[in-house]
Amino acid sequence: MSEFDKMYKTHIEHIDQSNLIKRAYKSALYHDRWKKTGLDIDSLKGYKGISQLPYTSASDLRDTWENNTVEDIILTETVGFWYNTSGSMGNKKWIPWTYNDYNKAGGALAEIIMSYLTPQDRVLMVVLPPPFISGTSPFKLLENTGKMGTPLEILAFSPSYLQDGFGLLMKRKPTALICTPSFAVRIADEIAINTPKLLEARAKQENKKLLKVAAAVTKLKKIYPKNIFKEMKIGIFGGEKLDPFRKILEDKWGIEAFDAYAFTEGFSGGFECSEHNGLHFPSRNGILEIIPEKELQKEEKDPTYKPEAILLTEAEEGLIGELVVTDFKEAMPMIRYRVHDRVKVISTADCTCNFVAPRLKILGRTDGIINMGVIRLHHLIFEQLLMKEFKFGKVEQWEVFVTREKYRPKLVLTIKPEFVKNEEDFKKELFESLHSFDLFQRGYDNDLFVFDEIKLDDNLKLELYGQGKSKKVRYDPDFDKPVKI
Ligand SMILES: [Zn+2]
Repeated sequence: MSEFDKMYKTHIEHIDQSNLIKRAYKSALYHDRWKKTGLDIDSLKGYKGISQLPYTSASDLRDTWENNTVEDIILTETVGFWYNTSGSMGNKKWIPWTYNDYNKAGGALAEIIMSYLTPQDRVLMVVLPPPFISGTSPFKLLENTGKMGTPLEILAFSPSYLQDGFGLLMKRKPTALICTPSFAVRIADEIAINTPKLLEARAKQENKKLLKVAAAVTKLKKIYPKNIFKEMKIGIFGGEKLDPFRKILEDKWGIEAFDAYAFTEGFSGGFECSEHNGLHFPSRNGILEIIPEKELQKEEKDPTYKPEAILLTEAEEGLIGELVVTDFKEAMPMIRYRVHDRVKVISTADCTCNFVAPRLKILGRTDGIINMGVIRLHHLIFEQLLMKEFKFGKVEQWEVFVTREKYRPKLVLTIKPEFVKNEEDFKKELFESLHSFDLFQRGYDNDLFVFDEIKLDDNLKLELYGQGKSKKVRYDPDFDKPVKI
């Protein structure tokens, strides 16, 4: 039995010792759905017990929040911190963590991060401000490096504050970067564009010859982060797929790039090691299962079919399927939560990096998600916003084609109209409807994605799949190819 198997065995025992199932049954998130199964919940033990329970989906979470009081959902009297995920289905998903949750997750993360870094490192983090979990949790959790006796220096900025913080960065010279990949590329691009202008402005103001020369030089040779942050050596990237951005980040920032993955609704996540082949999933505070592709296909044909999952420790190398997470959060444990990410098991054996945990590759989403940079929207949001009553026309069908313009995703919306009274006004109405949605607005107004085209096409034909469902989101086959700036 490998070290990891042993740890997993302890986890399974923990499920019984902590009465996880019994406790969770009290939450409105699980109670009625589990009751309907007719199972004797109190008698369920270990993994066998867990595996009989129904899966939990993002829409279960949403419905529970809409129809219950917070007190009926959470399992603790108080909460330490409320996190928010950007909510791919639109409505906000709030995730409560207690201080115990925060300490557990932080301890695990700090230990992992210190396998990349040393206490001499200074980490630049460009992350979204509270209450977004993707932004707030990393630097809060990294404070645990202090408790471990190996404190890291953290320079955390929200994207909008980065420019104001530049002076400090020039002085403290960060050695590592934690950021979303597309934003790190954007920083590189903006430094290249803005440095000559800034130097020129300063040269004018201060009338210094040296600055004039520098400004002239930067016009000939582009300045990138690697020319400014010369001590930077490592980048850890999460929030979106690293692969399309890996090469350009390594080139322009002068770093070795590592991929990281976290479940927004649940605990823990995965980390790439020096092998750069899949991510280790240590799952220190939970267990992972995989629903194999074959089972997913059966479910697609018959939506009432309940697909069987395999425990990660029992999965074979090469297996492809959807990830299911059960975690031991105190305030609101996630039990069999389907994260809708497809993964491939790369290896369950020991790794040359000595990190004991299986490696998985994240392949992409299993549902119709529209990638808009760090923001992702479910196609049902578009459906709601586009199928409304408009003054100048009506939508019969729609499709979004996602391609790239430099590092930004570019969305091309094609509409098959039922009728159009005035094309220009209709397009304006459609755009305004999308723009009225806060996440779309935030992404559009901050240039996170490109959206400059709505096409009208009477002959739009959507690709069909499963039981007559039509594919409304299509990706350019080159979408995951390395980006250039
Ligand atoms: Zn490894």
